[in-house]
Amino acid sequence: MTGTQTQSLQRLKQHFAQRVIHHSRELLELWQNLHTAQWSDQELLNMQEAAQRLLRCAQRFEQSAHEHLAIQLLSVLEVVAANSNRLNSASIERITQLLQELLQTGLRQGEGIDQVFLPTMVRKPLYIALRCAEQAQQLAHQLQSFYFQVEVFSQGQDFLAAMAKRHPAVIILDVDFIDRGYGLELAQQAKQDYDSQAPVLFYSATEPDAPTCLAAVRAGGEAFTVDALDISGVLEKIEGWVAVAQVEPYRVLVVDDSRAQAIFTERVLNAAGIITCTITDPLQALDKLLDFDPDLLILDMYMPQCDGPELAKMIRHNDRFVGVPIIYLSAEDDPDKQLDAMSEGADDFLMKPVKPQHLVATVRNRAARARKLKSRIVRDSLTGLFNHTHILQLLDDTLLRAQKTQQTVSFVMIDIDHFKAVNDTYGHPVGDKVIKSLALFLKQRLRRTDHIGRYGGEEFAIVLPNTNAASAFKVVNDIRQRFSEVRHSAQLSDLSCTFSAGIVESGVQIDAASVAAFADEALYAAKHAGRNCVKIHTLLTPEAADTPAQR
Ligand code: GH3
Ligand code: MG
Ligand code: MG
Repeated sequence: MTGTQTQSLQRLKQHFAQRVIHHSRELLELWQNLHTAQWSDQELLNMQEAAQRLLRCAQRFEQSAHEHLAIQLLSVLEVVAANSNRLNSASIERITQLLQELLQTGLRQGEGIDQVFLPTMVRKPLYIALRCAEQAQQLAHQLQSFYFQVEVFSQGQDFLAAMAKRHPAVIILDVDFIDRGYGLELAQQAKQDYDSQAPVLFYSATEPDAPTCLAAVRAGGEAFTVDALDISGVLEKIEGWVAVAQVEPYRVLVVDDSRAQAIFTERVLNAAGIITCTITDPLQALDKLLDFDPDLLILDMYMPQCDGPELAKMIRHNDRFVGVPIIYLSAEDDPDKQLDAMSEGADDFLMKPVKPQHLVATVRNRAARARKLKSRIVRDSLTGLFNHTHILQLLDDTLLRAQKTQQTVSFVMIDIDHFKAVNDTYGHPVGDKVIKSLALFLKQRLRRTDHIGRYGGEEFAIVLPNTNAASAFKVVNDIRQRFSEVRHSAQLSDLSCTFSAGIVESGVQIDAASVAAFADEALYAAKHAGRNCVKIHTLLTPEAADTPAQR
C-alpha cells in the first residue's frame, strides 16, 4: 500500500471511530429518557434501531468490544419484546450494565491507544470562538489538558456550519467575536436556526452593560466571564454543564404481604425504568435494605407479622437508613390513621388505588431528593469528591467484591508537592483553586466505576476496580504529566503545580487498612525520590513489604 492509501485508510478508520462513539452516545441518551418518560413500543424500537446502527458500525470498524456489547444489548431487548415489551428489574439492570460498559469501552485502533481508559471520547466537544485568536488557542490548550475535546473557530460561518452538524456540550463565545455584538448574534442564530440547547458561556473583555446581559440571556447565555484565561473560573462555570451522562436507575424496595399488590407496584415502576425488589415478609426488610441498597421504600400499612409503622420505626433505629425515604401505599382512608403512620418517620402516604403516574412521580421526586442529600453526606464540599470516610468505605467494599470475583484492585494516593509554599506565596484561595483543578482533572480522566476521594487537605485517593498496578501507573502518570502543564491562574501565569503518587495493587486477601498503608508508603517513596513522580508498591513478600519497593 502506498503512503497516501495508508493515510486515507487511517482517515476512514477515524471516521468510523467517531461514528461508533456517536452511536454509543445515542443509545445512552435514549436510555436516559427513561428517567422522565415511560417505556413504550416506540422506546423499544428506538433502542433496537440505535443498537443495530452501533452493531453495523462496530463491525465495519472492527471494534469487537463494541460489537459484542451491541449484540448483547439487542438480545436483551429481544427478550423484553418477547415479554409483551415489558421491562422488569432484571432487564433494566442488564441494559444499564451494558450501557455502562459501553460508556467505558475505549476504541481499539492497534496504534497503542489505551483500551481501558478513554471515557472522555464519549463526550461532546466544546466550541470556542473568541475575538483574540491567541487567547482562544491558549484557552483551548488549557481545556485540552483537562481532557476536554475542543474546537476553535475563527469565522462565524465555520461556527454555524459546525453547529449545523453537531451540538457541542458548551459554547464559549466572545460577545464581540470578530465584530461588536456579532457573538451575540451568532448565539441567537445557533439557537433559532439549529435549535441549539447548548449552554453558552459568554466572554466580554469589559464588564457587560445591562442590554448586553439581557441579549446574552436571550441567546442562551448561562454565565459571563471577563477573564477567558482564568482557567479555574471557566472550569467552575462549565463543569456542571459537561458532567458525564449518568445511567443509574432508581432502586425501590417494596414491602407488601399481598403478592398481587406488589406485582402491580413493580410493573408500574419497572415501566418507568425503576428497579424494584419485593418482599412479602416485613421481617426480612432490614437484611434486604443492606443487600439491595434501595433509594426508597414502599410499605404496606397492615401486614400480619409486623405492621408498617413498626417496621418504619425499626428501620429508623438504624443510623445507616435514617435518610431512606419511606412511602406508605395502603387502602387506609382514615386521615387520622394516615397521620399516625406518618409520624413514625415516613415521608408520604399514597392511597390505593393509586394512579400509576402519581406513584411514579412521587417515587422519582423523593428518590432524587434522597440521592442529593446522601451525596452531601459522603462528599467533600470543596471538590465534590468523596470524603475520607467514604472513600475508605468504598475501598473496603471494592476489595470485598474483588475477592469474590478474583479481580485486581488498585489503590492510589496522591499528594500535591510543596503545597505549603503555594499557600504561603499566593494565599489560601489560590491554593483552593489548585485543589479544585486537580479534583476536576481526576474526574475528567477516570472511569465512572473508579472512586475518587479527597483524602485530606491536598491529598487524594483513588480506587480503581479491575485494574492492575501497571495500568493504574499509566493513567496516573499521564494525569501527573498533564497536570504539571496547567497554569492555574491568568494573573499568576507562573503558577504550576506537580504531585507525587503511590500505587498499590491488591492481592486477593488484603484488607483496606493495609492497602491504604502500603499506598502511603509508595507515596512516601515518590516524595523521597524527588517528587513529581509515581511509585508502585510491591507487597508480594514480607521483605518487600518492609521496604517500599518501587518500579
Ligand atoms: P510535600 O511536597 O512534602 O507534600 O510538601 P507540602 O508542603 O505539600 O506538604 P505539607 O503536608 O507540609 O503541607 C500541606 C499544606 O496543605 C498545609 C496546609 O496549609 C495546606 N492545606 C491543607 N488543606 C488545605 C485546603 O483545603 N486549602 C488550602 N489552600 N490549603 C490546604
Ligand atoms: Mg500532605
Ligand atoms: Mg503535599
